[in-house]
Amino acid sequence: MTIDTLSRADLQEFHDHQRQAYDALKQAGLSLDITRGKPSAEQLDLSTELLTLPGADDYRAGGVDVRNYGGNTGLPELRSIFAELLSVPVEQLVAGDNASLSLMHDTILWSLVHGNPDSPRPWAAEEKVTFICPSPGYDRHFAICEHYGIDMVAVDMLDDGPDMAAVRELVKDPSVKGIWLVPTYSNPTGAVISEAVAAELAALETAAPDFRIFWDNAYAVHHLTDEQVKTADILGLCASSGHPDRPLIYASTSKITLAGAGVSFFGSSPANIAWYLGHAAVRAIGPDKVNQWRHARFLRDAEGVLAHMERHREILGPKFAAVDEILSARLGDHGVATWTQPRGGYFVSLDVPDGTAARVVQLAKEAGIALTPAGAAFPYGQDPRDRHIRIAPSFPPLEELRAAMEGLCTCVLLAAAEKALA
Ligand code: PMP
Repeated sequence: MTIDTLSRADLQEFHDHQRQAYDALKQAGLSLDITRGKPSAEQLDLSTELLTLPGADDYRAGGVDVRNYGGNTGLPELRSIFAELLSVPVEQLVAGDNASLSLMHDTILWSLVHGNPDSPRPWAAEEKVTFICPSPGYDRHFAICEHYGIDMVAVDMLDDGPDMAAVRELVKDPSVKGIWLVPTYSNPTGAVISEAVAAELAALETAAPDFRIFWDNAYAVHHLTDEQVKTADILGLCASSGHPDRPLIYASTSKITLAGAGVSFFGSSPANIAWYLGHAAVRAIGPDKVNQWRHARFLRDAEGVLAHMERHREILGPKFAAVDEILSARLGDHGVATWTQPRGGYFVSLDVPDGTAARVVQLAKEAGIALTPAGAAFPYGQDPRDRHIRIAPSFPPLEELRAAMEGLCTCVLLAAAEKALA
């Protein structure tokens, strides 16, 4: 029975029932957290061997002593593994330190201060710089823009990528210099950018000559089903459309090996790689090659990475299944929510009735369940419909996740009943 079909009296009864359930939830004194997409300890244990690699006498990669300074492009042994997985030619793929977010940050900062190879002037010398932000999206992307005064314009993130009608209009504005995209199993909706949308993004005529696609392929190999979705070849599509320097590709092993001690990657055109390396040489004498070497030893080859990801899936699969099962069982009949069933990645997006997401998050907090703040997946933290909640199932043990989801559903039902009665 959907709640919009209830009579006033039945709605009041439904509300009172949810209020009781919520009061009982509060009494339970929970302390649960489904805020951030961190791997669980069990997942990190899959890479324990990294803590003893490469071993005391294993420090030569080819002719290179990995203990020493130098080599800003990173070790070819590791780059070749990820070149294959990310469909980037190995000579156009750099391996860096532990956070791809730092690479995104740096490339934006260098664009602001110096401009990119196509810029008539540094971005900071422009009257304003605008980024297109498909939303819901990744809050840390938006935080970089906010930190540096880059204006953000939200467009809807649809099932096959950003709303291209909106994007087509926006790129006519010369201040629009970039678009954020997570092409595969996007954070947080799990959407996968289709070949057709990627081709259109590659071919767009943009008013800014130095427009860039920030292609953050954080979840390229993070499958949750047997279908191993392949990311669109943005580098090839841009090159064949006459915009070879448009895409900037980022990835990392943060959610493959150790979230805080992985290796990041940056892929792009030869011109952009030269631009990147020119700035990177000022920033550091070289990356952590010991870490890169132990990753190459541990992962061995592209197949090794995919086999390792299967073990993550064995741990994550039941958690995502539990989220879907509980949402379906508790909310399915009431017509108060829709949610995603991602084929990979780290998140489930839950949409509750307009105007109630912040209330749900507050109710959950008061019952000891920490959720990502409502609106976090939108530029400036503002969800125009106040309806989106990001669920991160990976970190808590399964039983805690189940308890958090049950509690969350109680909060959704109470907030929906309150709204319907108001
Ligand atoms: N991009 C996306 C889309 C993410 O979800 C995350 C992690 N939550 C990151 C980047 C961070 O990656 P890294 O650890 O390589 O900085």
